[in-house]
Amino acid sequence: MKPQNIAVLNAGSSSLKFSLFELTPKGPLRRIRGQIAEITSNPVFSARIGSDPKEPDQLLGSNHVGHHRCLKFLLAWLEQHARVDAAGHRVVHGGIHYSQPVILDAAVITALEALIPLAPLHQPHNLEPIRALATLHPGLTQVACFDTAFHATKRQEAQCFPLPATLTDAGVRRYGFHGLSYEYIAMKLKELDPELARGRVVVAHLGNGASMCAIDNGKCVDSTMGMTAADGLPMGTRSGTLDPGVLLYMARELNMSLDSIEDVLYRQSGLKGISGISHDMRQLEQSDHPKAAQAIALMVYRIQQYFGALTASLGGLDGAVFTAGIGENSSLIRRKTLQGLHWLGFELDDVANTQHATRITTRQSKIPAYVLPTDEDLMIAHHVQEILDTR
Ligand code: ADP
Repeated sequence: MKPQNIAVLNAGSSSLKFSLFELTPKGPLRRIRGQIAEITSNPVFSARIGSDPKEPDQLLGSNHVGHHRCLKFLLAWLEQHARVDAAGHRVVHGGIHYSQPVILDAAVITALEALIPLAPLHQPHNLEPIRALATLHPGLTQVACFDTAFHATKRQEAQCFPLPATLTDAGVRRYGFHGLSYEYIAMKLKELDPELARGRVVVAHLGNGASMCAIDNGKCVDSTMGMTAADGLPMGTRSGTLDPGVLLYMARELNMSLDSIEDVLYRQSGLKGISGISHDMRQLEQSDHPKAAQAIALMVYRIQQYFGALTASLGGLDGAVFTAGIGENSSLIRRKTLQGLHWLGFELDDVANTQHATRITTRQSKIPAYVLPTDEDLMIAHHVQEILDTR
């Protein structure tokens, strides 16, 4: 019998997000979405079935702590609603070899484990549910979809650091992340504005993790993230791009250990570090503390700088898209960003922007800017459906 339902799993350090899609001839249709939060301490299950109101949160208790037990609970819960025929996973790093979604088997899992040093804070968590499902549901087709894959089309200058070739050969490269989000936006743009989709676009994925991507005719040309998800824009708690000398200074002059430097770069910097108030844009927007304004101003400044850099990578610009939590919801960040980018041809329509309309530039604007909600899980479901259809 043809597979009918796909579970999509997106496992992070503390949460397991999931969706269940039914496969239809027109593509995957989401039937269920939800998450298990605080999986390593106090798991809380929440789900929404179709357009029904969200089910009440369920405390799973200490018997369910950990990825394996949470997944066992989730599988049993999902199978009360629908048979699960295949699973798709978000995996942050595919290294240089996996630039397409891949069916998981023992050899591929081993190869993905070998990439853990390239994404130590994400890859191990992504692999947990894959291993757990392989034991709980042997024989189930599992597919890995990579955040790095969309960026594999970057030319050599955009892929490499100016470091000795031995380091480049060892995998120290500019991979790029949030690729499933960019691929989804490129796909949606074809429906919304086919002419722009064939042109040169900068997409700003602004969430707790944030990056920007230069896309030409649907293909990635460059992005702000490099070897790790700590590069590029300042984020909720990550610093983004730094002078490499800062790391040497922290180690040598401030006697900071590698662990404490990692903690500063990933957990104490960005919006949280600058403001000293919060990593969360909503809270910063509501605060009248000057440090909150400073954090917002620095983020906007860097977004604008990268618009310039990515426009240079593209050789010009035909439009932009804002997406993810901040990009989709913060009219303030979009307004401040676009008001400083008049020189690129954007003329903001602030009524449309305040109302979170899809198009937020005026009719007279030389180039358009759009707001599009991203959906990485749906992109994964599309990939799994394609793979299953060709088997
Ligand atoms: P993640 O990278 O964890 O998936 P999200 O895409 O969910 O992050 O984005 C989270 C960010 O979006 C937070 O900084 C949050 O404050 C911000 N955000 C969400 N809603 C709003 C809003 N209405 N106004 C401003 N910022 C918002």
